Amino acid sequence: MSQQVKKVVIAGGGTSGWCMAVALSRQLGTLLDITLIESSEIGTVGVGEATIPTICAFHKMHGINEKEFLSATAGTIKLGISFENWTRINHRYIHSFGDFGKSPWIGDFYHYWLAAKTYGYQSELDDFCFELQAAKYHKFSIIEKPKLNYAYHFDASLYARYLRRISEKNGVKRIEGKVVDIKQDTDTGFIETVVLESGERIDGDFFIDCTGFRGVLIEQTLKAGYEDWGHWLRNDSAVALQTDFSGDIPPYTRAIAHEGGWQWKTPLQHRQGTGYVYSSAYISDENARKTLLDNLDGSVRSEPRLLKFKTGRRKKAWVKNCVAIGLSGGFVEPLESTSIHLIQIGVTRLLQLFPFGGCSDALTDHYNELLRTEYERVRDFIVLHYKATGRNDTPYWRDCRDMEIPDSLASRMELFRESGVVSPYNSDIFRSANWLQVMLNQGIEPRNYHHFPHVMDKDQIINNLDKLKNSIARTVEKIPSHENFLKSYCPMR
Ligand code: FAD
Repeated sequence: MSQQVKKVVIAGGGTSGWCMAVALSRQLGTLLDITLIESSEIGTVGVGEATIPTICAFHKMHGINEKEFLSATAGTIKLGISFENWTRINHRYIHSFGDFGKSPWIGDFYHYWLAAKTYGYQSELDDFCFELQAAKYHKFSIIEKPKLNYAYHFDASLYARYLRRISEKNGVKRIEGKVVDIKQDTDTGFIETVVLESGERIDGDFFIDCTGFRGVLIEQTLKAGYEDWGHWLRNDSAVALQTDFSGDIPPYTRAIAHEGGWQWKTPLQHRQGTGYVYSSAYISDENARKTLLDNLDGSVRSEPRLLKFKTGRRKKAWVKNCVAIGLSGGFVEPLESTSIHLIQIGVTRLLQLFPFGGCSDALTDHYNELLRTEYERVRDFIVLHYKATGRNDTPYWRDCRDMEIPDSLASRMELFRESGVVSPYNSDIFRSANWLQVMLNQGIEPRNYHHFPHVMDKDQIINNLDKLKNSIARTVEKIPSHENFLKSYCPMR
């Protein structure tokens, strides 16, 4: 067990560093002395601009005002992701954050729809999800009933700046500088001091590594080790830029599959972020750059940036008196916009287990186990998108389709195929409706379904479905466009 923790040092000031700083200062600031070190010369990765709904809870927990945050970051609303060319070329589906109807305890709502289909019912499952319909028609409003499940898109550098402002108000001390050396206790290996290029030495009791892919503390110093998931998630590169954007702002991210990966398009109030995530084993950086430049919606505002990464996770996110949060702790890949969620869950768990009395094996092991589970849940869901593709037009997609997958995922896919049952893992961030949308839309057809709907007769089932469908359609028609919502609720400052 290390000494009591009073002085906390956060190394790195990207999204992870500032999320950590906001939460720690807001919740425990009066008990701790918090310093954050960042280097503007190194800069941030700057591309994490799409999120999932858990961010709303994180913001509420730490007193972040939604309107103010959206205005300050040129933010927009996200109701899901439009997956284009994933199942096959020219096919599109929206994976929304919403639920389908109201599920009874015995099984998911969509079994009603499957039952109705056996009577020749024609409506699409999509018609029964409010978020999905709102996304489709570019509509949004904050309403009480039904309460929408939504997330945000925002400008990553404005987000870090916004969180920095709040953290500094809460008493976090920021130091500009590059960490060039780390001093450890010679007996225990615990980190004692980080040394900056200027020669300044910052002592601490507890260190949080938010230095991104570099992992300056957790890997370069503490050698936590890395579990490589490249055999399942083969993308290892991205080329990213920003463009102008005109026209209707969609309340969703676009994920468009190309020959050796996929392109994201993230709409903000003032611009669009876009990039091509690909595997360098299948296409060259130059080809990827060309594909990206051939598939833009507006004029280019920034030079294309090349990013290299290795998908996987740090074997131990917490080692001795250091915890890795953000890219220093792992990177699953950005397809379902889960990195910021993983940052915020890492922050939340750390606050819940904060080592005031010192770092013990019990605390460390427990935290590492919680984080391992979170990462693996996300990994399986993302691997599903690649495995369940119907594409076979390029070696990349053929290899994705034919790859071996984690047993945990294989058994879930089989369960669904055999019985139509989607059984989310315990503590899975993705719920039945998420799994269902991806599995059904990417061509996994269940051979059976649960027969609980047949306790009603055919007319009852169909009338209830029609009632729900019409009510969703009427509400969507009434609510404002996403664009008008943004103009009145949170225009960019
Ligand atoms: P960084 O942004 O890299 O920040 C690292 C910080 O550490 C910087 O401040 C840097 O200056 C500092 N630093 C590094 N070394 C030193 C040193 N020696 N001394 C001092 N300071 C140092 N996530 C999502 O949730 N949604 C998305 O849509 C999404 N898209 C992505 C697309 C791509 C192609 C990639 C690669 C990632 C994407 N991510 C996404 C992940 C997301 O970008 C990160 O989770 C997020 O930006 C947090 O990064 P970070 O703060 O951990 O690291």
